[in-house]
Amino acid sequence: MKLTLLGAPGAGKGTQSDILSRKLGVPTISTGNILRSAIHDGTSVGLAAKSYIDKGQLVPDNVIIDIVQERLSKPDCANGFILDGMPRTIPQAEALIAHGIELDSVLSLEVSDEDIVERMAGRRVCPRCGASYHVRMNPPKQDGICDACGSELIVRKDDAPETVRKRLQVYHASTEVLKDFYGKLGRLRTVNGSQSIEGANEDILKAIGAKA
Ligand code: AMP
Repeated sequence: MKLTLLGAPGAGKGTQSDILSRKLGVPTISTGNILRSAIHDGTSVGLAAKSYIDKGQLVPDNVIIDIVQERLSKPDCANGFILDGMPRTIPQAEALIAHGIELDSVLSLEVSDEDIVERMAGRRVCPRCGASYHVRMNPPKQDGICDACGSELIVRKDDAPETVRKRLQVYHASTEVLKDFYGKLGRLRTVNGSQSIEGANEDILKAIGAKA
């Protein structure tokens, strides 16, 4: 099962990828998490990516393509994977095809811009393992603490309202065209991302023909 999740920032890509990863038994490859971890570790990729991320811009395609190509060549991806946040541009989608990486389904999580802005204000993430929560819709068991690894949750710097507005602009300008791209290839499935996490997950499983 080779999947990718498309959607505006905060549409629920990370949350749904993690649930799908557990249910389908394939790894999630989140380019955002890989880049944040590279920034944390001070690697050359992290240094190159930081200023783009902080401004809500896309990291250059060649950086992303290299990261994803390397990660997908690891043995745990042999039986499938879930891409979270990649591709985000037509050149990235074309690079996957050029590298022989065929996606079975592309799931677009549809959420209005107004809902996104409201959601982002409540998002909290784990700086260590990348798990994502929402103070109201998906709270951790213990306030401010990651269920998965016990670290203290933070607000992502790029979740500041003005950066979220920029990221939404970038989504509409560069990423939304991928719906058309994958629609023409017969791979696109759209899912209502404004419903509950469980409801959206059931719809995704139905859309890809997997059992709930
Ligand atoms: P995310 O965690 O998916 O919201 O990604 C956070 C940020 O990382 C984005 O706003 C971009 O700056 C960068 N990023 C993540 N994935 C990509 C990608 N596929 N292409 C370009 N930039 C990306």
